[in-house]
Amino acid sequence: NIIVVGSINMDVVSSVEQFPKPGETIHARGAAFHPGGKGANQAVASSLAGASTVMVGAVGSDAFGEPLLQSLKQYGVGTDEISVVQGISGMAFITVSANGENQIVLCEGANALVDWTLVGRSAESWSKDTVILLQNEIPWATNQAVLNHASKTGARVFYNPAPAAPVPDESLPFVHTIILNETETETITGIRPDDDSGLEEAASGLLQKGVEAAIITLGAEGCFYADRSGRRHRIPAFRVSPVDTTAAGDTFIGAYAAASLNGIEPAEALRFASAASAIGVTRAGAQTSVPTRSEIEAFLQS
Ligand code: ADP
Repeated sequence: NIIVVGSINMDVVSSVEQFPKPGETIHARGAAFHPGGKGANQAVASSLAGASTVMVGAVGSDAFGEPLLQSLKQYGVGTDEISVVQGISGMAFITVSANGENQIVLCEGANALVDWTLVGRSAESWSKDTVILLQNEIPWATNQAVLNHASKTGARVFYNPAPAAPVPDESLPFVHTIILNETETETITGIRPDDDSGLEEAASGLLQKGVEAAIITLGAEGCFYADRSGRRHRIPAFRVSPVDTTAAGDTFIGAYAAASLNGIEPAEALRFASAASAIGVTRAGAQTSVPTRSEIEAFLQS
């Protein structure tokens, strides 16, 4: 099964023609609440892609807490390991421009209180058949405890260091697969992955530091995969007309994890994940944009 230890947010989304400049007030074309958070989005993506998924995290005692839990349940994600803590839920204030770009302000709320005491009770069930998904929207100390414990149980950790932040070298050997976009790649490796040699250099640096596999996602340019057994894959993105690229990476990661859990080879899992995220960017919202396994399979056959 898949365990996601990570963030749960309410996304407060407005859509605008163009982003406002500092000091400027503009009218939105519309606004909406969408359940989000990188952790929760990845959990929804892996659940809808067909993997049994449990979310470990926290929501606040505010008005958003209950709808956030209900939303995860509705997508089939297990919520028994989510704590309701005193205070506000995580929130993300997202602005989407007419050409599909986004700007995001995060308020961590309950996610800041996700510590090992809260995560530890779910850890008893981790085994070599578990894939754990981690991101950077809960305290780093918690991620570190998850990495340490996972390595003792044989569980594989797929780590998405987003939002971008440097990762201590000594933690990388505990990561099975690191999945990063261009910004995260540059922050962590110091290399801009804008051509084949940059991709190879960035990925092989991560492999040398101890990860088993590295995946660099490149938006509409697709993705690059490298692993320690010497495999390399450069997978193009599917051609679609994007409406909202929020959570493209999360959809990709959840779908990739679900496919990997089923023992699918990386090249095919990457194609499955690329299809999932290509469908996702043609729809509005974070979790509301995530496709089901049958939608992904139909897309791949079309
Ligand atoms: P993030 O959302 O983390 O920044 P990316 O933008 O790199 O991640 O997107 C992740 C994956 O989603 C890409 O590797 C690609 O497969 C898919 N994707 C993203 N944007 C598009 C797009 N405009 N058209 C088709 N696929 C896309």
